[in-house]
Amino acid sequence: NKPATGTMLGHPKGLFLLFGTEMWERMSYYGMRGIFVLYLVAFASSFGWDMAYFGIDPTAIDAQEQLTKALNKNALGILGIYAFWVYVTPVLGGWVADNHWGQRKAIIIGGLLMMLGQFALGTPHQFIPGLEIEFLYLGLFLLIMGNGFFKPNISTMVGDLYEEGDKRRDAAFTIFYMGINLGSILGYFVVGTIGEKVNYQYGFLVAGVGMLLGVILQIAMSKKYLGNVGVEPAAKKTNDNGAVSNAPLTSEERDRVKVILIMSFFTIIFWLGFEQAAGSMNLFAKQKTDLVVMGFEIPASWLQSVNPIFVILFAPMFAAMWLKMGAAEPNSPKKFAMGMFFLGLGFISMVMAALQIGDSETAKASIIWLVLAYMFHTMGELCLSPIGLSLVTKLAPLKYTSLLMGMWFFFSGVGNYAAAAVGQMVGDVGPFQAFLGVAIMAFVAGIILWLVSGKLVDWMHGAEDTKPQDM
Ligand code: GLN
Repeated sequence: NKPATGTMLGHPKGLFLLFGTEMWERMSYYGMRGIFVLYLVAFASSFGWDMAYFGIDPTAIDAQEQLTKALNKNALGILGIYAFWVYVTPVLGGWVADNHWGQRKAIIIGGLLMMLGQFALGTPHQFIPGLEIEFLYLGLFLLIMGNGFFKPNISTMVGDLYEEGDKRRDAAFTIFYMGINLGSILGYFVVGTIGEKVNYQYGFLVAGVGMLLGVILQIAMSKKYLGNVGVEPAAKKTNDNGAVSNAPLTSEERDRVKVILIMSFFTIIFWLGFEQAAGSMNLFAKQKTDLVVMGFEIPASWLQSVNPIFVILFAPMFAAMWLKMGAAEPNSPKKFAMGMFFLGLGFISMVMAALQIGDSETAKASIIWLVLAYMFHTMGELCLSPIGLSLVTKLAPLKYTSLLMGMWFFFSGVGNYAAAAVGQMVGDVGPFQAFLGVAIMAFVAGIILWLVSGKLVDWMHGAEDTKPQDM
């Protein structure tokens, strides 16, 4: 698996092609996510979601209020189901790439499906009278399937650029992660602005065009910069003796798969907390935070881009830090544990915000607490998310790499799902208890991971041992 053309900034040039492709895909994905709920509420009557649909008595004094509540809940429900399924299909997409298509074909098909999905959502309703809801579900279905083929496979290709034991791998995934977040910032601003200021459906069309740019970039440049990476399905690759790799897993390989599954399982707790960003923390920002900064009231939704901006700022430092640490670099389970501690610290900051407002109905917390929380959450994310992607590619037996990458995303889907449930709980038990609870859970998970890190590293059978590099 030698990439075709030389290096840039000490990494194979193919890394930057994957960076660009994933940036456009995430622009499309997060752009759509940013306006989706707003679109569902604004176009509710086209979908037939009116008072009669929700069984609201139109003569009630608060009928309008009830409708708004019902529409919000309906929209959030659809978003939650979408966010879950979008991370279930990577298991299927990973399997298909490993066994039949190879990753390159899978990401192109996945990218085109997602483009069509955005276009389905963006089709103006006057062209499809009576089929509005069918197009909505068609669009979501295409996005869910497309992401399944795309997301795990672009991630495994990053790993395929590096030989086993190459210490640049974690740094490479951290750089790749910057592409993800650059894409999400672009999406929030470009798709978000066009969607909110012009028309939501134009926003989806622009998101579809962004996806198309990613596909074109990939088709145009992959031969030159990716060589044969991702061309052949892994299960059909031959080993050093020329035999096709269909041997049963060795006990070492089984141990390594165990490590992937155990560590992915812990990420449920991480995403459960982290994904409060768009839910309960967003509402806390809107309703219980003083958003006036130097006389200007900033929209709560702007705070959503604090995380990707911090990722872009911190990622190079984290990548450099891991490399600089040399032999002292913590192993992946310890990095995960650090990720959990940072997540916990972020929620302690939210607890402080809750303490500041106390029982008062009108008091507002300082915005500093939220920004601090997002900062800690981002630091945690950088210790866990790119490291996890890297880990999967280090540990997975060749023929299961994309499938296991799909599993990694599956657990994050479960985390997203749990996050929504916890988000609703914040309304019931109040922010102080809910945020403190999540903080404690994160600290406990971090401590457990730290304690079992030695065992997990044993089960990796040398996958994280340093090899001298010729850089
Ligand atoms: N924000 C990251 C991405 O979009 C992580 C997603 C996840 O693993 N749930 O790739």
